[in-house]
Amino acid sequence: MKDDTKIVVAGRDPQNNHGIVNPPVYHASTILRSSLAHLNEMAEKRYGDEPEMLYGRVGHPTALAFEEAMAALEGGFRCLAYPSGLAAISSSLLSFLQAGDHLLVSDSVYGPTRTFSDKVLSRYGVETTYYDPEVGAGIADLMRPNTRVVFTESPGSQTFEMQDIPAIADIAHANGAVVMMDNTWATPLFFKPLEYGVDVSIQAATKYIVGHSDAMMGTVTTHREHFVQLRDTSQQLGQCAGPDDIYLAQRGLRTLSVRLHRHWENGLKVAEWLAGRPEVKRVLHPALPGDPGYDLWKRDFKGAAGLFAFVVQPCSETALAAMMDDLELFGMGYSWGGYESLMVPGHPQKFRTVKPFEEEGRLLRVHIGLEDPEDLMADLEAGFARMKATD
Ligand SMILES: *Cc1c(COP(=O)(O)O)cnc(C)c1O
Repeated sequence: MKDDTKIVVAGRDPQNNHGIVNPPVYHASTILRSSLAHLNEMAEKRYGDEPEMLYGRVGHPTALAFEEAMAALEGGFRCLAYPSGLAAISSSLLSFLQAGDHLLVSDSVYGPTRTFSDKVLSRYGVETTYYDPEVGAGIADLMRPNTRVVFTESPGSQTFEMQDIPAIADIAHANGAVVMMDNTWATPLFFKPLEYGVDVSIQAATKYIVGHSDAMMGTVTTHREHFVQLRDTSQQLGQCAGPDDIYLAQRGLRTLSVRLHRHWENGLKVAEWLAGRPEVKRVLHPALPGDPGYDLWKRDFKGAAGLFAFVVQPCSETALAAMMDDLELFGMGYSWGGYESLMVPGHPQKFRTVKPFEEEGRLLRVHIGLEDPEDLMADLEAGFARMKATD
């Protein structure tokens, strides 16, 4: 089955749900069993790798339906849902790391992933080294005998560097390390981490899977080999997502393909327009020909998200505020992946430790929504005019 068909049909079971097309929401903590033998059988199942419904935290029909659909799209053995993208990331890291281990993390990683490594993992005796996102096979020089996990994110948050995932995965595996990838940008529709050597594929489903800026959700999908360790640790941590939010993610998944194709198209139109503007120093978008990540994007990815960044010519904070405060169509707020456009300043100059981001001028991260791009460009053009009038 092709992906567009999978996202429509996977995880649905109308026969067992009164014919209802969409898997309905099951609210559950207690799940009753009719005999001691059945109860024992369900309890025993929790140690294997089959789905089980013992207790609300451990598994319920709404979660299993969504997880089945995501695993089908990812091409993985099974998927687990988490209450946020960050919970998916922290649970993955805690599942495969222990005291004395060494962790490699890309320097362009999502900020809270860096904070979790620095503030939490460090307290449990895990040492983190950041690496140049464009290191490729050069990661070999950073591997230590105790390097247990290599964490990747491509393209990176805020600065959008592409990573050579297969090259990194080959070297990590040769050294016995587990490869994790935050694949929120492309979603498994445009890039399939598990087919490119990644062992643990992570989604902040809050973004494009939910797709409507109204719920938090994370997913992790693995091959069979890594599943039990991930599932056991996640359950020991008490991770579980609520059925209403899972339902919204499951519903969003059905339309992921049409939305994502439009975000890609609209995003490229606006990115190309921005690249030709005198107010803009540089556009950071891996699907834009000429971008340093373009060749890797073209080689490995099937499409692009509507999320990218641009650097404006150096200007005062007042001029920047004049531009941003009165934008009509771009909201100013965190997150992305919904139907609407957003703009926030990024601060890569502050966080990077290995490969400083040295552009002068502010970096603005934009999410291009499903509005007509002509209207978005007109909004930006008026913003640039206000900026110029203020400076
Ligand atoms: C938003 C985001 C996350 C975290 O997801 P939450 O659901 O907000 O916890 C992780 N990685 C990337 C790349 C993100 O953009």
